[in-house]
Amino acid sequence: MSTDFDHIVIGAGISGLGAAHFSARRGLSTLVLESSDRVGGCINSPSFAALDGFWTEAGGHTCFNSYGHMLSILDDLDLTRQVQPKLKVGYKLWKDGKRRSILSALHLFEAARSIPKLFKEPKDGRSVRDYYGAVLGQRNYQDLLQHAFQAVICQPADDYPAEALFRRKPRRKDVIKAFTFAEGIEAIPTAIAAQKTLDVRTGQQIERLESEGEGFRVRLQDGTAISTAHLTLAVPPDVAATLLPAESAFETARTLVAGIGMAEIETLVLVFRQTDLDLPPIAGLIAVEDAFYSAVSRDFLPDAQYRGFAFHFRPGTLDADAQVRRACQALGAAPERIAAQVYVHNRLPALRHGHFQLVEQLDAALAGTRLALTGNWFLGVSMEDALTRSHSEHVRLFGAGA
Ligand SMILES: Cc1cc2nc3c(=O)[nH]c(=O)nc-3n(C[C@H](O)[C@H](O)[C@H](O)COP(=O)(O)OP(=O)(O)OC[C@H]3O[C@@H](n4cnc5c(N)ncnc54)[C@H](O)[C@@H]3O)c2cc1C
Repeated sequence: MSTDFDHIVIGAGISGLGAAHFSARRGLSTLVLESSDRVGGCINSPSFAALDGFWTEAGGHTCFNSYGHMLSILDDLDLTRQVQPKLKVGYKLWKDGKRRSILSALHLFEAARSIPKLFKEPKDGRSVRDYYGAVLGQRNYQDLLQHAFQAVICQPADDYPAEALFRRKPRRKDVIKAFTFAEGIEAIPTAIAAQKTLDVRTGQQIERLESEGEGFRVRLQDGTAISTAHLTLAVPPDVAATLLPAESAFETARTLVAGIGMAEIETLVLVFRQTDLDLPPIAGLIAVEDAFYSAVSRDFLPDAQYRGFAFHFRPGTLDADAQVRRACQALGAAPERIAAQVYVHNRLPALRHGHFQLVEQLDAALAGTRLALTGNWFLGVSMEDALTRSHSEHVRLFGAGA
């Protein structure tokens, strides 16, 4: 049976764009359908036309030379040589209304005593609290590590699976260790989506997905329908659970996916003129028991005129004005000196104990179908974890290739 496309991908975050890139490179006709008006999802580098195009990161901000799938895509797009090194600036703790050094919260004796366990303690099947409490000591976990992990995943970290954080991957020695781009990380999704071999459509509202023979039909809310031989869902798990075709073949997958939670993050981006801030360069803030988990600055790629910060707030804790006041307090800045501000709603999966068994069951339920599921909710939340899943699903659907 002939279809409109060989492959349709739903969702244009890095997982979906990666899945689309892999199939388009194999010469398969590939369409990406994205519901919002932009590509990139959690990769979002808002820029301000009124501030000479100054941008700052509202989501993902750093790629590493251990991101093998990401780098293979950048190689394909001839972007690897454009990577920008990140200036080394340190994080500070924000505790009891003051910025403090990270070391101030470290219990050195306890860490020294525990560190040998780092090489012995198994990580598999353990929670972040259990594993890191064992390898660096309970007091270090309580006073420092839990806040640092929360800052990374923007949600309570205790019950998160330890295996999903900081996976060891081989490094590519020809690329700098931590990098960004002159226009921010958003340069990556933008470049993937701009390829002529890819059809990427934003603002697409999907009504439902149906099985059709071995393939699928995508019904859009505007009444149109598009058929495809292969389908990849690259949306958050709660969305995937509602979109999975209603047929009984996907019932188990739907039930499993519906069991994965999401963390909501209220991100506030603030920009100031250099001259309006009396704050030494800083990578960001790790908050201890505050309304925000973390703040990430743009100081890693300094600008002559402006400085930018993204504060990642717990949902429903402070109203918009109070968030602005809290962020300004943490920066030592006057709210009336804000040069630009924008709100972004970020979402990250809230993985829990037993997650990797759930993924095994999910893979068993999808085996033999032409439907792939990818995202930052399989191996872990990093961009490379997301792309690693997109690549393995690509191989399942289309084979390993040349
Ligand atoms: C604040 C923050 C900082 C981070 N920092 C880093 C970092 O420094 N390094 C790193 O490696 N990772 C980082 N991450 C993680 C990483 O950026 C994300 O995990 C990754 O970009 C997620 O990509 P994704 O495609 O799986 O999901 P998403 O980016 O969430 O993309 C999903 C896409 O699906 C779309 N969608 C949703 N519903 C529908 C629908 N019904 N129909 C069609 N489309 C739909 C969404 O609009 C979105 O575009 C960070 C994340 C956050 C939030």
